[in-house]
Amino acid sequence: MGASVAYHLARRGLTDVVLVERENMLATGSTGRNAGGVRHQFSNEANIRLSIESIGLLECFADEVGYPIDFHQDGYLFLLSSPSSVATFRQNAALQRSLGVDVEWLDAEGAARLVPGMDASGVLGATYCRRDGIADPHGVTTGFAKAAQALGVAIERGVEVTGIRLESDRVAGVETTHGRIDTRSVVNAAGPWARRIGAMAGAEVPVDPIRRHIFIAAHPEQIRGTSGSGEAPPFPSSHIMVIDFETTFYFHREGAGLLFGMGERGETPTFDTTVQWDYLPQVIEVAVTRLPTLADASISHAWAGLYEMTADGNPIIGPAHGIEGLYLINGFSGHGFQHSPAAGRLLADVIAGRDPQFDLTPFAAGRFVTGAVSGERYVV
Ligand SMILES: Cc1cc2nc3c(=O)[nH]c(=O)nc-3n(C[C@H](O)[C@H](O)[C@H](O)COP(=O)(O)OP(=O)(O)OC[C@H]3O[C@@H](n4cnc5c(N)ncnc54)[C@H](O)[C@@H]3O)c2cc1C
Repeated sequence: MGASVAYHLARRGLTDVVLVERENMLATGSTGRNAGGVRHQFSNEANIRLSIESIGLLECFADEVGYPIDFHQDGYLFLLSSPSSVATFRQNAALQRSLGVDVEWLDAEGAARLVPGMDASGVLGATYCRRDGIADPHGVTTGFAKAAQALGVAIERGVEVTGIRLESDRVAGVETTHGRIDTRSVVNAAGPWARRIGAMAGAEVPVDPIRRHIFIAAHPEQIRGTSGSGEAPPFPSSHIMVIDFETTFYFHREGAGLLFGMGERGETPTFDTTVQWDYLPQVIEVAVTRLPTLADASISHAWAGLYEMTADGNPIIGPAHGIEGLYLINGFSGHGFQHSPAAGRLLADVIAGRDPQFDLTPFAAGRFVTGAVSGERYVV
């Protein structure tokens, strides 16, 4: 988010910008730990609009921003196994189509044909959008950052923000481990740590860190070194992202292996990203029902990252409530990587005093007080 905002500000001629990152590298927070998924398929109209704009930029990223992002548009397939999910997805597919998204409705056989080796038992329906896909989060972040830098933005790595200085209720500067930066405008792009940065200015930013795991499986044939000759059905050859909506088990091809994960129940906020290996058997129990070949696979590695959750699953984009000069781009609730191109553009327009040509009401910071708008239902 920080790199995208910096890029879009610079494109608007606002180049007196410093991007401050406490780690020695960019994209080591949530961005460096995500599944790379990019989809049009959301339940909330504002999120579908974010996707349309973001995917438009990702499709021409190398030409427009100047960096490769390894974007595979092999589609997202949602599998639905309950009548209520079928009803919800039918309604939302109609909404997506009304906005120009080409989303298909499939039966179980149609879904199974897209993913060789997948068991579609119990599937009552599925949605598929072929322009959805998988991109490289490091590439997108680096692309935005390098292009912003080329336009004059400064990037300070290994520098931690320790405080925000106010004069009355207005931002006056930022305290860092490398000294003070005087400024009238601060963007909180701290991902799962957004609440802490907000608190430095006395602003409530209702974003909680929730741990999510990703596992990588190596195909048994890779392990045996007998590529192509074993009995187990292969992992999908395309990069299609499959989401079993009822269980939230999801997977996609990653290199020669398979990336998979599943939402965890009873989660409580934590900044701890230690891998909980005792969670793996629960995931595998579900996983093998959809992808039996996983029973013979070996898990080559795993990591955990943090979702940055809001109460309604929608982000906060715009000015903070009550603190002039503080802007928020937080709480993307597990789908922020893909929305960073549009979200950064929107906030840059707001800061530059331009009309973003987008109804930001569903993303307003004040909505948690008024409770006036509906959120996102497709949080995986
Ligand atoms: C397991 C997992 C899977 C996911 N899958 C997807 C997916 O398929 N598709 C998708 O779109 N999204 C996905 N997401 C969500 C996505 O990763 C996030 O929404 C997105 O990366 C948020 O970006 P960000 O820039 O806001 O946060 P981050 O990438 O976390 O960046 C925040 C940065 O702020 C820095 N920072 C924090 N505090 C300070 C400080 N005091 N001083 C200086 N720097 C500071 C951090 O070091 C960090 O680099 C997934 C997330 C996880 C955990």
